[in-house]
Parts: sequence; C-alpha cells; structure tokens
Amino acid sequence: MPLSKKKQPTAGSGSKIAELRTGIYKFSGEKPGSHVYLIRGWDKNVLIDTGISSNFHYLVECLKQLGLKVGDIDLVVLTHEHFDHIGAAAFFFKTAVIAAHRLAANKIELQDEFVTMTRYHDAGSKPFYAHVWLEDDAIIALGNYELRVIHTPGHTSGCICLYEHNEKLLFSGDTVFANGTLSDIATSGNISDYVNSLQRLSTLRIVEMCPGHGQISSTPEQDMKQAVVYARTLMEDSKMLFEAITPKDSSIPSLGASVRSKTKSEEAGK
Ligand SMILES: [Zn+2]
Repeated sequence: MPLSKKKQPTAGSGSKIAELRTGIYKFSGEKPGSHVYLIRGWDKNVLIDTGISSNFHYLVECLKQLGLKVGDIDLVVLTHEHFDHIGAAAFFFKTAVIAAHRLAANKIELQDEFVTMTRYHDAGSKPFYAHVWLEDDAIIALGNYELRVIHTPGHTSGCICLYEHNEKLLFSGDTVFANGTLSDIATSGNISDYVNSLQRLSTLRIVEMCPGHGQISSTPEQDMKQAVVYARTLMEDSKMLFEAITPKDSSIPSLGASVRSKTKSEEAGK
C-alpha cells in the first residue's frame, strides 16, 4: 500500500515496533532472528531482512499493526546470507522481489549450508533464491527515500549496508553494531575486507545507524571510527597469531618451495 495513498497507522505503546522516521519502522528481532526494518516508499514497501522462518508470524503481526499484509511488501533486501536474516524471506518469495548482493545471492541459491548455517539453526526454513543480484552502489529509489547499496564484505563476503542519504540513516546489518562492536569473521568473511569496508563506511555522514541486532546508534560516526580501530587491532592480532603458529624455520620462500614440490609431485603422478 503506497505511503502517499493512505494515512499511516502508528504502532501502539509497548509495541516492538518503533517508527524511526515517517514511514520507516524497526521491528525488534525475536531472538535469534535479526531486526527487520520496513520502509514505506511512495509506491513500494521494502523490508530489510526478515529474521528466521519461525519469526514469520511475528512479522505478519507487526505488518498487521501498520495496516499491511504480506502481499503489500514489494521488495525484500537481505543484508547478507546468514540464516538469522534470511529465514522468513521464502514466505515473501511469491509476492515480492527478493534482492541480495550477488555473493550472498549465490550462496542462498546454491544452499551453501556451510555459510548460511540454515540447516543447523533454522531447519524449518524453505529454500528460495534472490530475484535480483545486487552490486555495490546500486540505488533503490522509493520516491520519498533512496537506499544506496554499499558492499561491505568482512563478516561475510555478501554483506551490504544500505545508506539512506536524505535522512542519513545507515542500515548496517551485521557489519557494525552500536559502540562500534564488530561481528565475528564468519565462514565466507575475512578481516582485511572488513577493515576496508569499515574505512569506507567511516567516510559517510551518518545521523543514525540501524544494525541487524541490538540498539540503534545515535553516535554512528564515533562508533564507526571505533569499529575501524577494533578491526585494525584484530588484523594485527591475526598477523601475530599467524606468526606464532608458523614454524620458526618456515618463511615465504619455503611456502614457494612447497608449491613447487606439489607441482613436481603432480608431474610425477602423470
Ligand atoms: Zn551474520
């Protein structure tokens, strides 16, 4: 239901729904599911993440409180490929367009359980695929709001943040939380990409940061600087760990030697 054609109902007191801006809502996550954000555009309604499959009924109830049905959601954007963000997306598959960064979409489509962890933590979820494979810098234009896709690999390879530049809101998924807290480096992620992603985010003018879990941050720029420090420290710690576990007589030339010996043995096997 387009924002321009109907007066907006507001969430009742004590509700798990918070209206962050006109037509932008946060549905607090039902653990272990992530928060879900709803953005009511002039003509399209967008959900950011869905939580796990068992959160679907809660999600339906939240939408109902705002006068919406499942069929009123036009687009579901997934911040990354983890089970706690994507599980209920399958329930929107027939009626909405599902979008994710291509590196997340690929893992979702191939049901890469090692990365999504769906089978272990959300066995009730149904397979689906993303209709739209997003790239960095894509724009989702909603008339009253505009979301820019920022590819932020690190926690996983397919992580994105969504930046709404009119209100200067950042929907950060699991990339960064309040106080600059970082996620773990999950199976498809890595620390050096994480450092780079946070450095990119730290150049944005952000008024509020809306993460996938925990509190909304009203000091996002300060938090982002802190996140960069945390990530750089983690990077240095990982180097020290690597050095500590590397045998003293081992070095890069010997790594080259092992590659060469592998090649030799491969040749020997021919
Ligand atoms: Zn995650």
